[in-house]
Amino acid sequence: MPRFIDTSAPGSCVFCRLIEGEIPSSRVYEDVQTLAFMDLGQVNPGHVLVAVKRHAATLLDVTPDEAAAAMRTARQVAIAFKSAFDPPGITLLQANGKEGDQTVFHFHMHVVPRHGDDGVALSWPRKDPPRERLEEYAAKIRRMLGVTG
Ligand SMILES: [Zn+2]
Repeated sequence: MPRFIDTSAPGSCVFCRLIEGEIPSSRVYEDVQTLAFMDLGQVNPGHVLVAVKRHAATLLDVTPDEAAAAMRTARQVAIAFKSAFDPPGITLLQANGKEGDQTVFHFHMHVVPRHGDDGVALSWPRKDPPRERLEEYAAKIRRMLGVTG
């Protein structure tokens, strides 16, 4: 994960300034709700960030329309990768909160071309709980979603 952490106040964060053109960026796509631009770190050639234009810190702060727009833009970028870089794989990464490995607190999604030996790794420590525990977790979420049964 990148070490840079943006501690700017909401509304003057690094992505807000980039979207306003106060900070230079290599833009690849823009629509009413989103901006796609090259990630400075380039985990792999072609690594793009898709940010919503309105300052919203996390997935919990964007509107459903903004979330959908970000995914639409990410998909368009992924389609462009096919011709531009022809990667055998593509990874989307969207982090929320410091503990979720978010480093710029303005909603964005990484779209990363992937290759078999690219050294990109995600620690994924499976806990494999028993079925009864899964049902407990599911019931908590269903209750919050208003799903009965
Ligand atoms: Zn911002």
